[in-house]
Amino acid sequence: MREVPDLIACEGCDALYRKVALRPREIAHCPRCGTELERDAGRQRERILPLTVASLIMFLIANGFPIVEIELQGLSSRTTLFGAVLSLTTEGMSLVALLVLATTILFPLLQLLFLFYLLVSLAKQRRPAGFSWLVRAMQSLRPWGMVEVFLLGVLVAVVKLSNMATVIPGVALWAFGVLTVLLTAVVSFDPRHFWQMAYAEASKEGSA
Ligand SMILES: [Zn+2]
Repeated sequence: MREVPDLIACEGCDALYRKVALRPREIAHCPRCGTELERDAGRQRERILPLTVASLIMFLIANGFPIVEIELQGLSSRTTLFGAVLSLTTEGMSLVALLVLATTILFPLLQLLFLFYLLVSLAKQRRPAGFSWLVRAMQSLRPWGMVEVFLLGVLVAVVKLSNMATVIPGVALWAFGVLTVLLTAVVSFDPRHFWQMAYAEASKEGSA
C-alpha cells in the first residue's frame, strides 16, 4: 500500500481516502469496492513484542536441539533440523533441502528478526534505519512466512527423511510445536501497522 501521512490508497481500486482515527478494533473498508483499508490493532501492538521474543527463544531451542536420529550405513547419529537438511543435500535432494531450509528456518527467522528490530526501535521512539525498506520487505515476505508454509516445510522434511531417520520426541519437537502456535499469533500482525506506529511517534515528537 502506498501511504502518505494523511492519505490512504485502496489496494482494490486505487481510490484515495483521508485517514480517520479508528476506534479500538474498528476496521475501515473502501466504500466503493469493499477492500479493507485499515484496522485498529487494539491490544495486539502491546502483545506483539513479547510474542516475538518468545518465538525467537523457541526458534533457538527448536533448532539447537537434535530433532531426528539419522541412520546412515549402520551408524546412527542425532541431529538438528539444519543437520537433517544438510543430509538431504547429500542424498541428492538439494531442491527439497532448499525448500525445507527456506520455509522452516530462513523465512521464520528473517521475519522474527525484522519484527524484533522494528519493534524495539519504535519502543525507543525512533524510526530505525531502513524502516520503509524493512516494512516493505516484511509485506512481501508475508505469504512465505505463513504458518501453513512452515508446517508444509516440516511435513516435507519428515516425509523425505522418514526412510532414513526417526523423529526424536524430545525438547526440539516440543519447541517446534510451541513455535507453531506462537507464529500463528505473530504472523497475524499486519506489517502495515508499522506505518501507523511510526506516524504516531512522529506526531508525538512534533507536538512536544
Ligand atoms: Zn476500493
